[in-house]
Amino acid sequence: MDKPLASKLILYRWALDEMGFPAQISQAVRGRHYTCPLCHSPMIARLGEELQHHFSHEQETGCTSEAVTRAALGRWITLQLRDAVQKHQVAKVEWTCARCGKSHSADVLAGGGPVHEGYQWGGGAGRFADVALLDTAGNVLMAILIQDDTMPTRETLDFLRGKDAFTVVVPASVTPAGSDFRALLTMGEIVGAACPVLKQVTNIIREGDAIRQALRDVVSRWPGYFYGALESVDGLSNVLKLDNAALWLPPEQWREFIGGTRNPLAPGIQVTMKEWPHHDGGTIMLYYASVRDTGAVGVKRYGPGQVPTPYIDHRFRNRNVTALDIIYYLVMQ
Ligand SMILES: [Zn+2]
Ligand SMILES: [Zn+2]
Repeated sequence: MDKPLASKLILYRWALDEMGFPAQISQAVRGRHYTCPLCHSPMIARLGEELQHHFSHEQETGCTSEAVTRAALGRWITLQLRDAVQKHQVAKVEWTCARCGKSHSADVLAGGGPVHEGYQWGGGAGRFADVALLDTAGNVLMAILIQDDTMPTRETLDFLRGKDAFTVVVPASVTPAGSDFRALLTMGEIVGAACPVLKQVTNIIREGDAIRQALRDVVSRWPGYFYGALESVDGLSNVLKLDNAALWLPPEQWREFIGGTRNPLAPGIQVTMKEWPHHDGGTIMLYYASVRDTGAVGVKRYGPGQVPTPYIDHRFRNRNVTALDIIYYLVMQ
């Protein structure tokens, strides 16, 4: 039988030292005072030979090992990032852009000012970064997320991908050596970044309110429906051209600004449907079709008393169908 004490023992990898700096167990010194970054109670470095070296609370608390690691590593990243910004360091990264498909490079520290340890966006759970770098106007330039079994969630990643910020995911298991933010970056992964091409294209509507308004406007005119394929404009993909406007609508923006029910039809083929009430008592139906990496959007207004019953038959499960075929069928039925 296992010794009950040993099986319950939590092996903490991190603690704060006397100066309040995060220390990993590999750097711990016997006899020094350590505290827990979460509950701030004393911790002891256990550097014996029987067990893997670890920190333990002097008195048992409810702190989990994951939460302590997250708190200590978040503090470590915050301090190193602040230091790098103060020293005007350059931390150049390269990534393949999920938005335009091209390869870009940039200095993630450029324009950086305040560093927040723990940053919460308004408007909901999941909108949290362990560390955030802001510019002096208060815009988030970089969000750093520590990855363990619980975070970041899909919601957090989707939310951040819709932002114009670098999103970096750092595994909780990293054991950063020395004090170098740039070295830490190489242990993480860039999962989201603003697209420099997109930034240059200024006449394209990207804000949620304006996109929703444009979609309402287009069906308030005759003939009460609109459909179109998503195109590439000036190197920017997923642009929907309306009569006198162009909307930027990659799938993640649609999810954030419009939402709706997702209907998978076949591998790589899906339609998202959303119903809006219209001020005349009728209904507006919005459709977003993705077929592999192409997309199309349709909007249709139904008068009061008309009940939309969107229906897709089996023909649209076949591989040769285009996103525009699906949208045309839905809008015209
Ligand atoms: Zn604790
Ligand atoms: Zn790009």
